Amino acid sequence: MAEEMRAVVAYGPKDYRLTAKPVPKPGGGELLLKVKACGICGSDLHAYRGAPYYWGDGKKPGWMRAPVTPGHEFSGVVAEIDGEASRKWGVKKGDPIVVEQLLPCWECEYCKEGDYHLCAVHTMYGFQKGVTEGAWAEYCLINPGSLVHRIPDGLDVAEAATVEPLACAVNAFQTGSVRLGDVVVVAGMGTIGGFIVQLARLANPKLLVVVDIMENRLDLAGKFGADVVVNAAREDAVKKVLDLTGGYGCNVYYEVTGHPNGVIQGLEMIRKKGRFVEFSVFGAPTTTDWSVIGDKKAISILGAHISPHTYPIALNLLRSGKVKTEGLITGKFPLADFDKALEKAADTATSIKVLLMP
Ligand SMILES: [Zn+2]
Ligand SMILES: [Zn+2]
Repeated sequence: MAEEMRAVVAYGPKDYRLTAKPVPKPGGGELLLKVKACGICGSDLHAYRGAPYYWGDGKKPGWMRAPVTPGHEFSGVVAEIDGEASRKWGVKKGDPIVVEQLLPCWECEYCKEGDYHLCAVHTMYGFQKGVTEGAWAEYCLINPGSLVHRIPDGLDVAEAATVEPLACAVNAFQTGSVRLGDVVVVAGMGTIGGFIVQLARLANPKLLVVVDIMENRLDLAGKFGADVVVNAAREDAVKKVLDLTGGYGCNVYYEVTGHPNGVIQGLEMIRKKGRFVEFSVFGAPTTTDWSVIGDKKAISILGAHISPHTYPIALNLLRSGKVKTEGLITGKFPLADFDKALEKAADTATSIKVLLMP
């Protein structure tokens, strides 16, 4: 076992450096992961650009504790493990695994009620130094409280790094309780949106509509089985959906754009008693007349956050080929080119999901 490894370390906004760090030594009940692949998430880009939520705004401290190695969407192979950890997680040295992004505290009310994804402490890989150092590194130390899943045979280990966003998409999708007679709109064809489109296709609703403003992403939505794609930069998406539904609107609206307009548009195109599913993180507030929620339409606003209990479902969907990553993974970069990888990930006209390959 090498003594040193290469790792990216986030010191501050736009101050990320490739460094040499000691390879972590796993203690009792921990495991050491040899990282195979790690995705770059939208949240990683927000953090890189210096969003106050991560770094603090002078009044409130940031959620991120730097300097820290980023990376929470990862897969790899067990490099070191003791008997206790092996029994707990049912994996042994050499096994391919994924690890859930959140490290639950297992002591707060949410964790005790089974809603570990809402953990009040909310420690996540790649954000808290010394506790949950992330996987933009050759090795990653896995905390005893983590949730570990073996990657099934037949699923590529690097591809399994996309299990994290897929597990999130499964949660978001199921929150909408799609039925066969529904008209479903997915707004935003990023990684999560691309997975939700495929899941909606499996559910075979009456009509599946995808709205985005990038032609390359809409092409991919068509390949994933969207019945209708709408470029909101060129067409009135609300009018289009109302026209397609005899003026009624959609039954289910998935908001995964992260843009305030994605909310306004959804409230306008959703039918009465519709289900509006919100998964995005926004860079700016949205303002609207709340009458639409009760008085005008009696709609349900349903929030979904990350991936409670959905990693096993996501692993099975990828292994069986029912959900695909072709077209969604738009770049793979070695660790040394992490800055190029960040640039590519930020270029939404040509890129969706970028993986680092340590
Ligand atoms: Zn993420
Ligand atoms: Zn907790």
